Formats: sequence, C-alpha cells, structure tokens
Amino acid sequence: RCHDELVRLRGNIRVFCRVRPVGQEAGSSGSRSIVTFNPDDDALLHLANKGKLMTFELDKVFPPQTTQEEVFQEVQSLITSCIDGYNVCIFAYGQTGAGKTYTMEGVADNPGINQRALQLLFAEVSEKAPDWEFRITVSMVEIYNETLRNLLGDNPSERLEIKMCPDGSGQLYVPGLTEISVQSVEDINRVFNLGYVNRATACTNLNEHSSRSHALLIVTVAGVNTTTGHRTSGKLNLVDLAGSERISRSGAEGCRLREAQCINKSLAALGDVIHALRSRQPHVPFRNSRLTYLLQDSLSGDSKTLMMVQVSPLDSNMSESVCSLKFAQRVR
Ligand code: ADP
Ligand code: MG
Repeated sequence: RCHDELVRLRGNIRVFCRVRPVGQEAGSSGSRSIVTFNPDDDALLHLANKGKLMTFELDKVFPPQTTQEEVFQEVQSLITSCIDGYNVCIFAYGQTGAGKTYTMEGVADNPGINQRALQLLFAEVSEKAPDWEFRITVSMVEIYNETLRNLLGDNPSERLEIKMCPDGSGQLYVPGLTEISVQSVEDINRVFNLGYVNRATACTNLNEHSSRSHALLIVTVAGVNTTTGHRTSGKLNLVDLAGSERISRSGAEGCRLREAQCINKSLAALGDVIHALRSRQPHVPFRNSRLTYLLQDSLSGDSKTLMMVQVSPLDSNMSESVCSLKFAQRVR
C-alpha cells in the first residue's frame, strides 16, 4: 500500500520489531532461537516453540543481522519531519537485554538512532541555509519512580515538574529543564557524556538503574525563514524505556516493589495512550503517568510515533517476548 493510504488507514503510529542476535549466552545455557522470519513478508514474525507456532504482524520486522544503518534508513524520514515542524516520538520497548539501548544509543564504534538522528539533522539544516536558519537544542531527562531528573543540569538530583503554560495555550513546559544548543558531533558527544555521568552519579549500579528508568533525549528544532520570517518548530523525543519484564509481586518488596509498580504503571499508561490515539477515542489518558504527560504534545495532534519493540530470540525469553509482541499488537 502506498504511504498516503497507510497514513489514512492507520494514522501516524508505526510499530516495528527488532530481534537481537543470539549472543554468547546461547551455548552456555542451552537456550536457542525460536524466532523465524517470512522472506516474502517483512511485516511478519513467527515464534515456534515445542510444536506451537505464533504469528505476529507488525509494520516491519528487523531480523538479527539488520545493521544500525539499515534500521536508521527506515526511521530517517520520521526524524527529518521535525524540521518541517512535526513532533516525533521514537520509543524502544522490551525486556532488559533485548537491545533497547543498542538501538537508541548504540555502542562506541556503532552509534544508534540518537547520534545518527542529530547528525542527519545537522546535515539537513545546513542544506537549507541561507534561506533558513535553525537552532537545534537537546535536553536529557530521566524518569525514575515517577520523578523527573534533569540530566544536563548543574544539580542532577533536583526534581523537575511538568507545568501548564500560564498563557492559556494548553501547552506544557518543564521549568528549569536544561537545553543545550548543539551544532556538531563533538557537541553531541560532550552532551551525551555529561548526561551519562549525571545519570551514573546518583546510583550504585548504572546497568540495573537504567533498566528501571526511562531515558529521554529531547531534541528541539526551531527554524526561521530569513526572507519571510516564517517560523517552524518541531520536537524529536528519543526514548529508551525501562525494561518491560514482569517482576514477580511475591518476590519484590520495598524499593524493588515500588520500582516495579512505577514501571508497570508508566508502560501501561503509554500503551493506553497510544491505543486511545490509534482508535481515535475522545479521551486520551495522558495524565496517568509522568512519561505520557511529559510527551503529551508530541503524541497528540499532528505528531508521529514509532514504537520499536525489541525482542530476544531465545526460547528462555519466550514468555517476555510474547508479552512484548502483545503490547506491540495492542498499540498497532
Ligand atoms: P537493553 O537496553 O534492552 O537492556 P542492550 O541494548 O543493553 O539491551 O543489549 C544487551 C546486549 O546485547 C548488549 O551487550 C548489546 O550491545 C547487545 N546487543 C543488543 N542488540 C544487538 C544487536 N542488534 N547487535 C549486536 N549486539 C546487540
Ligand atoms: Mg538498556
């Protein structure tokens, strides 16, 4: 189907699935891949285990050999649309270890969507000069236990609040949120490092902590036409979500239980919001979590959303994979 028809039928929400490669763990634990792909239809994914076959349909499925470049090619038009004034959200969803951070942040010698997106934006806006002048800024926010932290601020332990603009426009803003203007890859790396250090300082184990909190990279792109004075403003929200794995209620207590409740609540709220938008329900429950409230402007109206559901191919992760794919099916 052509792009326009898809937009009319399905709105501006896409759900992709990326399957992580089988790593070192397969040999040691005896776990094997249960995911198969359809060579004739890149929207289908099959899970085959113990004689049972399950099929899921998404907008696109990326098998394990898919490179960072190939994934990026499929999302770049979404990213550049924020130059034209669209608000865009890209989420990485899935259990811990399924490749969310690999897709968004990437690794040192193979960056993910975050860095590639900014580089692409730099290239695109420089093409538009001198007719247009653009300013690109980034903020980094962590949401942990329903509190917001300003990862680029001088005081990262300070909590941020989401407020309604006093001008009656209904727009939301976050007083005190640090925005840093960026123009080059060096700028980005400096900013990402600052965010990383600030995120790590408040916790004892960054790996554990990052799987229990949402990390948001918020990019604003503001342009002005140098002859007509016409202005555009778009926002790109790149979100590495907390791990979606179910934490058993019986085992968890105290801190762990509260973390689990906050994660469940906000991931469920995200699913509810996207589902409500997709099915054009009159009431969209943005206020049920900080995550959906913060992103309200970027999820509603004329905005574009991509959910990248990350899946592990191993049979030992089967039940979590099924949960993630059911979430994908619900928001699609
Ligand atoms: P998550 O953020 O969902 O917990 P990670 O992104 O940290 O998962 O991935 C877990 C491990 O698997 C990391 O070592 C990561 O580098 C590796 N990994 C994930 N996806 C891929 C991939 N597509 N190709 C190569 N390595 C990957
Ligand atoms: Mg991660």
